[in-house]
Amino acid sequence: MFIYKEEYVSKKEGCYYSCPWIEHGLVFFQYKIANCCICGHLSGGHTLLRNNYVGQNIDWDRIFKIKEMYRKFHKKGKIHKNCIGCPFLKEDNWNDGGRYINNLYISHWSNCNSKCIYCFSSVHPEDFDNKKKYAALPIIKDMVEKGYLTADADISFGGGEPTLLDEFEDIMNYLLDNYYWGIRVHTSGIIYSPAIARAVNEIRGYVVVSVDAGSKETYLKVKQVPCYDIVRENIRKYALQTNFTGRYLVSAKFIIIPGINDTKEEIEKWILANKEAGLYTTVLDIEENWYHEHKDNIPKHIFDLVKYAKKRSNDLHTNFELYERLQNVFYNRKKNWIEKLFKRR
Ligand code: SF4
Ligand code: SF4
Repeated sequence: MFIYKEEYVSKKEGCYYSCPWIEHGLVFFQYKIANCCICGHLSGGHTLLRNNYVGQNIDWDRIFKIKEMYRKFHKKGKIHKNCIGCPFLKEDNWNDGGRYINNLYISHWSNCNSKCIYCFSSVHPEDFDNKKKYAALPIIKDMVEKGYLTADADISFGGGEPTLLDEFEDIMNYLLDNYYWGIRVHTSGIIYSPAIARAVNEIRGYVVVSVDAGSKETYLKVKQVPCYDIVRENIRKYALQTNFTGRYLVSAKFIIIPGINDTKEEIEKWILANKEAGLYTTVLDIEENWYHEHKDNIPKHIFDLVKYAKKRSNDLHTNFELYERLQNVFYNRKKNWIEKLFKRR
């Protein structure tokens, strides 16, 4: 489970390799609790804290002991097998010994209202119905009451469609009522959520709407539901919740799907539609299955597309954000470039 790797033995006094998720992260998945929801790198991520989880009471002592075990091994250069190669693994003086969570992710994977062609759930939608569901709100309340969820925690929703959860509005309102301000929701945008609107309005929540298209036709090809207009309208309504300075809180994400939407024309239409809706953030990623098949040989065409999106984002004065797989691509590219440079010396 933990593998000794020379490259992960820290030479710096008091330092070791870890990440914000091992230290203070927690993810609620369907059937398990994990340290993280990161899985774009080869070894897989999703490091486990508890398996077979369907809403039972949580033994927090055990959770924090497991985190301590990760630290203990990582300090010796023995790295969890699922963390090897992860771009989030960094050498630092991590250990403050605190028993707290400041990265929380709610990822139930129990339903969705989109049918993205790249998602396993669109191939087996019946899986959603067969799954046992559990409520995260009582556990979140327990964490808040025990002081385990820090006031400045980053709290994210994703995995399936959060706005379809019976408890979604309640969780959001509970967090907002309790003064949390680092909330991020990944949504299809098909349902308009008053709680998301409230979070944006109070400049305490960030919403990432999955669009993957610059036109109705491409949206239909990718999402397989005829909802482009409603999604665009909801994005505009969220953006209208905030003033000029808060506009970066609403974004429309584009996942590049080679062969479907990987053209400059599509990117251009998407960026212009975002600008027209009043958005100031551009979020780009690449399709996961394609990425895993091609990650060692990404064609120049894809790099050119990313560069183009970045340039257009700069022209229009919007934030430019790469998401997980593209972050990996650029992390590995930089790493390979540095390694080559050292070999030449
Ligand atoms: S896979 Fe990456 S993000 Fe997840 S716990 Fe390991 S190092 Fe951290
Ligand atoms: S919105 Fe997310 S969960 Fe729903 S089909 Fe698309 S990728 Fe899958």
